[in-house]
Amino acid sequence: MAARAEIIFMRDRYNREINYMRISVTQACNFRCIYCQPNPSSQTASSLLTRDELVCICRQAVRLGITRFKITGGEPLLRPDVAQIVRDIKAIPGVGQVTLTTNGFLLKEKLEELAEAGLDGINISLDTLQETRFREVTRVDGLHQVLEAIEESRKRFPTKLNVVLLKGINEEEWLDFIRFGKEHGVIVRFLEWMPLGGSKTEQTVDNRELIKLLREREPNLQKLKPKTPIASDAEKQTFGNGPAEYYYLPREKVWVGFISAMHNRFCENCNRIRLTATGELKGCLCYAKQDSLREILSDRGLTDNRREELIHKKLQKVIYEKPLMHHLENQEKTTEKSTMKDIGG
Ligand code: SAM
Ligand code: SF4
Repeated sequence: MAARAEIIFMRDRYNREINYMRISVTQACNFRCIYCQPNPSSQTASSLLTRDELVCICRQAVRLGITRFKITGGEPLLRPDVAQIVRDIKAIPGVGQVTLTTNGFLLKEKLEELAEAGLDGINISLDTLQETRFREVTRVDGLHQVLEAIEESRKRFPTKLNVVLLKGINEEEWLDFIRFGKEHGVIVRFLEWMPLGGSKTEQTVDNRELIKLLREREPNLQKLKPKTPIASDAEKQTFGNGPAEYYYLPREKVWVGFISAMHNRFCENCNRIRLTATGELKGCLCYAKQDSLREILSDRGLTDNRREELIHKKLQKVIYEKPLMHHLENQEKTTEKSTMKDIGG
């Protein structure tokens, strides 16, 4: 680890400590999930940040106290150098955790490389356990590959399953997922769908309703105590540092997580910024506002020191100006019109 004195633990103007960055490494995806890409023909082809550029940005982020990184996309495993990206970010002095989120389709063949690169954990997105429905939701025939990848992943990494429940599509599978999590030794988390990319909110399953149903089945449902400001390493490994709330089901003897962007606004504790695959920094998913690093990165007239200084300043600005909260419940205030795939989910 670098000497602590070199790192400023930066807070935004609402006094939130920002210590986490989600990095999209591609906008391409081999799935076309109906809720993420409602209009799959709009595949974008823009120039991606190179590995060196990504690492340069991360180095400056670490100096500002961002020590945890999530590699995402699009589908990050489509990027041939994804393991090298992980390795290079892990090698930056001061970096704590580098984790990755994937649809799992290509994961099995990449696991060894990712483990060697030092990856700290994997989130696999899986929205249904039924083969036909999997094809309908993702528009790909791949449930078998993803299930195999989950089995292999959990042998090497702390592995979580992210499930988006949609009304009228897969909402009744919630109990099947909880049981699947127990049987396969992975923590399942239910993510509320967010109306991005111009979609409407009717599909969102309210996690509060789900918790109510769980409480009816398990009256002794236990909520994990609120996170202490400095979570232990074991807590971080198991529960991460994100907005998920975790409940223990004493009867089923299993933990379940809920990420409730729509019905339990967690903005007060939001600790993250985002970097898109094309070099835009974003303080919040909900808004079109972004600060580009493109010009700085492509200006050949800059010395390396000056470039780093400018990136540092831009990161400081984005952290400081991070919006107070999202307004995803309000279509007019949701100025971001891109999908999660393009922003980096
Ligand atoms: N392709 C990778 C995957 O599926 O994990 C990484 C990118 S994907 C955009 C990251 C996460 O965002 C996935 O768990 C996906 O289910 C979720 N997601 C996509 N669109 C969403 C939406 N509109 N609301 C909530 N979650 C969404
Ligand atoms: Fe599905 Fe992830 Fe691809 Fe979106 S980015 S279509 S959620 S696999």
